[in-house]
Amino acid sequence: AIATEQPIAVQMLQNRHACIGANLSVSYQTPIAMLTAYETYMVDIDGRHFLDMVNNPMHVGHNNERVNRAIFSQFERLNTNTRYLYENLGSYANALLACLPSSDCVTMSTASSRPHFAVCYFVNSGSEANDLALRIARCEAAKHGRKGTLVLSGGYHGHTTALIDVSPYKFAGKGGSGCPPNVAVAPVPDSYRGMFRGPHCAQAYVQELEKAADRLGSQFGVFLFEAISGCGGQIVPPKNYVRNAIRAAHARGAICIADEVQHGVGRTGHFCAFESVQLEDDESDGIELPDIVTFGKPIGNGFPLGVVVTTQALADSFASNGMEFFATFGGNPVACAAGLAVLGELKEKNLMAHASQLGAYLLSGLERLQANHACLGNVRGKGLFLGVEIVHAVAEPESTTPRPHRVLARYIVNRMKDQYSVLLSTDGPEENVIKIKPPMTVSMRDAGYFLASLDRVLGEGPVALAG
Ligand code: PMP
Repeated sequence: AIATEQPIAVQMLQNRHACIGANLSVSYQTPIAMLTAYETYMVDIDGRHFLDMVNNPMHVGHNNERVNRAIFSQFERLNTNTRYLYENLGSYANALLACLPSSDCVTMSTASSRPHFAVCYFVNSGSEANDLALRIARCEAAKHGRKGTLVLSGGYHGHTTALIDVSPYKFAGKGGSGCPPNVAVAPVPDSYRGMFRGPHCAQAYVQELEKAADRLGSQFGVFLFEAISGCGGQIVPPKNYVRNAIRAAHARGAICIADEVQHGVGRTGHFCAFESVQLEDDESDGIELPDIVTFGKPIGNGFPLGVVVTTQALADSFASNGMEFFATFGGNPVACAAGLAVLGELKEKNLMAHASQLGAYLLSGLERLQANHACLGNVRGKGLFLGVEIVHAVAEPESTTPRPHRVLARYIVNRMKDQYSVLLSTDGPEENVIKIKPPMTVSMRDAGYFLASLDRVLGEGPVALAG
């Protein structure tokens, strides 16, 4: 049983338990009944304000005026499906495609005047986007007799039946039924606690990826990955990894899908995280592009919207068997209005640069805290997509592998909420990674308050003892 201090919340919890599936958990030991939200803050039914350091779908801020106005005014005029003509479907698709890297900056591809990413499909969630991306990729791969999909350990790509089968986070975890046939798993390149460590382990992880791909052999058709594993524990790959992983998959004839659902749309300082991570590689002349990119969560600022972006060649291949693609609500005028307003905010408020600057400030602040708090085993991230790995401070004598400390991570997250009104969450297969991915409206002052609060919580007796 979960306790809550708010009497109305007790009633809400009871109603929820009575009629909502029990496998949908609530956040926090003492759940919060929320009433409203603005910018980087949420307000509960008692009027208590919380600093939201984790709600990444509210990308350009809770209750963003521009996005709200765009949604409401479009809804008042017209909402319908994509079989009618309306102006903002094309204008949104074009605006979005313009945000993606083009083939001008690709190292390997042949020069072409047509942009690499040329076609959009609109759906209603990240899961729908990944499901459709798989369908597009598998449609082409099947033409070459390839039915196998390669994924990274700890990865989560969505809740549909097809996506559970390519999400080790689910199939290898509680209640999962193991790796399905035609799926291979390569180790996520975790340079802190993984099988290879340190800043120069990219090649070793790429070799593991090649081994996993070779287990699929001639069946290897699709490589689905996140540039920075989110549910896997905010794992930033070592430099050169993503570039060489895409190259290795392409060299074996596979189609690469970059799942940008959690960290895409500018959070890492560039529109896509696969760009951000490659900009630190040894090679500096452009980046290696995937064939399909998926977006969700932040792209509609809370309005249900998912997008698949791909090349003209894959879109043509997908259309070539004559089967229609249609999603009733996908790309409706209201969704396009929301999406356009998000891109407008991102650009006009210079939020990608802001994410880089504040992210660097947070990362260096966390590194400073590490010096005094040994349970902060590793701090990492890009832009406003950060993670803090909580570990037992003293490694087991027989092992140098830091031991994850799930109980302490959970304690810190609950304490930050109860004592300092800061919202965070934990993730990763061991649930010991504290996630930091606030709305991009987060200010320097908010970041300072967060760091000071974390310092105090970490200095408390129970944390010191547990460490
Ligand atoms: N991909 C990734 C990387 C995700 O983190 C998620 C959601 N956690 C999804 C896909 C699925 O998105 P949704 O829950 O909106 O369907």
